[in-house]
Amino acid sequence: MHSEKAYQDPDLCRALLQRLKNTLDGRSLRFMEVCGTHTVAIFQSGLRSLLPTEVTHLSGPGCPVCVTHDAEVAAFLDLAERDSLILATFGDLLRVPGPGGRSLKHAKAMGARVEMVYSPLDALRLAMAHPGDMVVFLGIGFETTAPAVAATLRTARERGIGNFCVFSLHKLVPPALRTLLEDTENNIEAFLLPGHVSTILGVEPYAFLAQEYHVPGVIGGFEPADILLALCRMAECLQKPSVVNAYPRAVDNAGNSRARALLEEVFQPSDALWRGLGRIAQSGLALRPQYADMDAVQRLGISLPHVPPLPGCRCGDVLKGRIAPPQCPLFAKKCTPSEPVGPCMVSTEGSCAAYYKYTER
Ligand code: SF4
Repeated sequence: MHSEKAYQDPDLCRALLQRLKNTLDGRSLRFMEVCGTHTVAIFQSGLRSLLPTEVTHLSGPGCPVCVTHDAEVAAFLDLAERDSLILATFGDLLRVPGPGGRSLKHAKAMGARVEMVYSPLDALRLAMAHPGDMVVFLGIGFETTAPAVAATLRTARERGIGNFCVFSLHKLVPPALRTLLEDTENNIEAFLLPGHVSTILGVEPYAFLAQEYHVPGVIGGFEPADILLALCRMAECLQKPSVVNAYPRAVDNAGNSRARALLEEVFQPSDALWRGLGRIAQSGLALRPQYADMDAVQRLGISLPHVPPLPGCRCGDVLKGRIAPPQCPLFAKKCTPSEPVGPCMVSTEGSCAAYYKYTER
């Protein structure tokens, strides 16, 4: 077992960079990562500027806050204004701008009961501390975060806590990859697959990438050598596409069956709206009928309103890899981390925030 530090070794990274150059031998590699942690890791480690010129790095829809659709943002902003209700949310969602520039932060300043929490269990504790109020947890994230929400719902059921429910905005990665590949204008040659999500899914749910679209997919870790090794494997697979687990110290090929069973018990796949990608069939997670009493959508009658897109914001194109953040006319002018116009500038895992923080302007 190696320590994570071993994967930061400069000599190892240099050797992997050389291997990448040799394998490519002048061929281009246009790859997309679909994980906010990869986005940040690639910038933070300085890898982006070291990659061979043949390699083009695209950031895809891997940041949960960024892919939350305008209609979903409008729905939870409306929810925040209801009486006898406490909205519990992760910090990043507080600053996401909705219609008219409203955000949960503004709503809280105007008196709405919005509480920042660090886990769904914190939200459940909030419900136990306020038995006279309904606590609604905003569930966002991918296959990695949804099991903790499922476990919390099960705990709430076991303890008979009746004033807790979840507004599930969770999303599933594989259907989004398929949607990205269906649109050939996106021109993606390979995917760096998300290490965290893959700890739950394993390898098989990505098999369609190679089998149906002839695009390689490589599961990668987050240290510089992990990312470079994943790129080497990608380059080696270009001729004969396959799906590879290049992060075996964290990802079992079979994934985590217990976590998937928990998801299966509490959630069922549902159609979902994604910023930039639109409605994708069976790409979300809705609560199963057995959990209807804890489903905020049913219990509180939530519907997603039609709302206009954020004026001037190109987050949708950024999330599809169509443009790099600096190509958005608002980047670093009207839109900055302290005054974000779109969600990709809000989240620390957003592409626009990463470009703003780590690239020269
Ligand atoms: S720079 Fe701002 S407005 Fe432009 S795409 Fe990024 S988040 Fe959206």
